[in-house]
Amino acid sequence: MNCKIALIRGDGIGPEVVNEAVNVLNAIADKYGHRIEYVDVLMGGCATDAVGVSYPEGTAEKCKSCDAVLLGAVGGPKWGADKPSEQRPETALLAIRKDLGLYANLRPAVLRPAMADACPLKKETAEKGIDLMMVRELTGGVYFGKRNKYQTEDRGIEATDLMAYSEKEIERIGRRAFELARLRRGKVSSVDKANVLETSRLWRSVMHKLVQEYSDVAYEDVLVDNCAMQIVREPGQFDVLVTENMFGDILSDEASMVTGSIGLLPSASIGDSAPGLYEPIHGSAPDIAGQDKANPIATILSVAMMFRYSFHLFREADTIEAAVDAVLADGVRTPDIAHPGEKTVGTREMGRLIREKIKAM
Ligand code: NAD
Repeated sequence: MNCKIALIRGDGIGPEVVNEAVNVLNAIADKYGHRIEYVDVLMGGCATDAVGVSYPEGTAEKCKSCDAVLLGAVGGPKWGADKPSEQRPETALLAIRKDLGLYANLRPAVLRPAMADACPLKKETAEKGIDLMMVRELTGGVYFGKRNKYQTEDRGIEATDLMAYSEKEIERIGRRAFELARLRRGKVSSVDKANVLETSRLWRSVMHKLVQEYSDVAYEDVLVDNCAMQIVREPGQFDVLVTENMFGDILSDEASMVTGSIGLLPSASIGDSAPGLYEPIHGSAPDIAGQDKANPIATILSVAMMFRYSFHLFREADTIEAAVDAVLADGVRTPDIAHPGEKTVGTREMGRLIREKIKAM
């Protein structure tokens, strides 16, 4: 395969973890005979410092000229809430998702076998393993609805946020979920609040139409409050969970916590045609930036997702994930996933050991 990957290294630990991910990309390219070209894209606080805005003109076009985008992380106290919006890194994040039409956010929550003791749930629950995929709608719902704030005569100020979903928006995210389930264990759990919300009743009716088409996939409706309980009670029951934007925001953080460390969790945001964007779920961790302390695994596993979902190269994705599991099984730990007093390695050494495993496989 010949491909072009946009690299948004970003701020804080972003450049450090992207470096290790690129080294892994190159190791995979060498092993399986691929040619990868990289295009550096400036975005985030570093762009504000360099050119005065966090999302320089042409950012989306540069990314669209590539087959996939790898993002480290953006943000930091230097570009905080007191800055004008065009200088804030978060503005760039929302803009790139919108400009690339990335409406589906995929967040796997996997309890890696060697990390079972990092799971905060009961031992017998952790032992059953966790391997679920949260599919969150990313560009609709209450986060993008019309907002209003006004003075009332007798109740003080009142504020409203409109939650809107169209059949089209629900159908396209639903299809993503069913198709993903076919590549996994064949089960979709659709999360809503249909006992209260009109948007949820529409959501459910669109999902039920899709069920007819994907009759080979097992399906269930789950109310969001019950889902929040089930994720801590019996997460092993879930394969693919699909839900709207705000429910997904909250549940995906809950699901990631039950697996241990945020330094281990990747994500993908995908649309219909533009390149997918792959990034760790963690932020720029300014407290450890530049100290060779960051765990690069979440970014390296984001590369595995890129191979699987953008390039459909499953052997390459499996090799990366197996290499990460092998290094963790050897007891290699960065500080964030180590027990107190345990010997640790830095960002670069963790990356090197994973590459060694890839070569040896
Ligand atoms: P954070 O994820 O950056 O850090 C939270 C804690 O986890 C910190 O103690 C940090 O040291 C640790 N941590 C995070 N990633 C780690 C890793 N790979 N290895 C080891 N430890 C790790 O979250 P935060 O502190 O809330 O945010 C810091 C900045 O990152 C903010 O400016 C925020 O806006 C930004 N942010 C960016 C993204 C993104 O780029 N997608 C996502 C979340 C937060």
